[in-house]
Amino acid sequence: MSAAVHAEPEGLDVALIRRDFPALAQTVNDKPLVYLDSGASAHKPQAVIDAVGRFYSRDYSNVHRGVHVLSQRATEAFEHARTTLARFVNAPDERGVIFTRGTTEGINLVAQSWGRANLGPGDEVVISEMEHHSGIVPWQLACEATGASLVVMRMDDRGALPDAELVAKIGPRAKIVSVTHIANALGTINPIARIVALAHAQGALVLVDGAQAAPHLPIDVQALGCDFYAFSGHKMYGPTGIGVLWGRYELLAAMPPWHGGGDMIKRVSFEGTTYAEPPARFEAGTPHIAGAVGMGAAAEYLMGLGLERVAAWDRALLDYGHAALAQIPGLRLTGTAPDKASILAFTIDGVHPHDLGTLLDMDGVAVRVGHHCAQPVMERFGVSATTRASLGVYNTREDIDRLIAAIRKALSLLR
Ligand code: PLP
Repeated sequence: MSAAVHAEPEGLDVALIRRDFPALAQTVNDKPLVYLDSGASAHKPQAVIDAVGRFYSRDYSNVHRGVHVLSQRATEAFEHARTTLARFVNAPDERGVIFTRGTTEGINLVAQSWGRANLGPGDEVVISEMEHHSGIVPWQLACEATGASLVVMRMDDRGALPDAELVAKIGPRAKIVSVTHIANALGTINPIARIVALAHAQGALVLVDGAQAAPHLPIDVQALGCDFYAFSGHKMYGPTGIGVLWGRYELLAAMPPWHGGGDMIKRVSFEGTTYAEPPARFEAGTPHIAGAVGMGAAAEYLMGLGLERVAAWDRALLDYGHAALAQIPGLRLTGTAPDKASILAFTIDGVHPHDLGTLLDMDGVAVRVGHHCAQPVMERFGVSATTRASLGVYNTREDIDRLIAAIRKALSLLR
């Protein structure tokens, strides 16, 4: 590791951060691992691994139902994680924080619970062309079930949403706008506050898919003004199988349950059942307790680094990566929006991304190739797949240099 990564002007000591992530210190195909796939899933710092290990070794039990000590400790740890995650997104309080399996489940929850109760023929659900499939398919299902229509905001050649397009598509029939904060195939940061202002002026709600934003930007749901914000634990250095849907409490309180089972009820009888208040109403069954504890630890870890500093480091690395990739002949970036984070996606003339990805892996460089669960984005840019390097807080300029060297080597073999 060169001294250059120490005392970055952005204020993060990345060499020190790397030591928090045991998985990074390994070789792959006899080369030191360069992990550039955090957009798909990020590695875990020791603090998260320890929090989960401690919980299982000491405090584990089911939550909410026991009088014994371990059950109380488990409940405390679970609810403490909820409070931490409320702080992480600057929610007014923890009652709007629902634990889910991830972003996908959060969007499905709103589409099924709110959507089925509030959408009907003539209503419009507005999404963008750059959504992950989990920002598209749940709304298609809700539209099929209710007779509402799906309206798509198109992007320009840089992969940004023009303001005129927002104004044109968020019309008087819009009931909800569901849009990603950062696009996973492009890196575009969408103007959420502007979208919220336009949607609210039409009486529509806004759901933000924060899967890619939660690890990279300070999130403040009150400043954004959105109504729902969904994100995943595993992309923000926490466990898989756990996520959060934050929702404005008054909206959640008016929404019907979508899964039935234990913990989401006030009283059950064969004549009829009454439901618990949120968040319990939306958390049927035994939750991923250790996952929540780990996700809380991940949020603490990121807040400890400082999300402003994390975002500044991401921007510095992205600029470095853009400049370096521009030196590769025949390389075209997919996604060049002026407001961008964390994603370096590209195609190279005459080279199939899968061949490139395989050769990069032989050099120890892990990137993702394919459609990145965003097939409409691929269609818009006229490609079937891209190569995507996605950044994490532990990546360095040396990682980008290794990527560039590995691409050059691969091209010498492929061309
Ligand atoms: N939305 C975006 C923008 C994503 O990048 C992803 C995952 O890649 C998802 C949603 C789905 O997240 P999960 O699979 O954690 O539910």
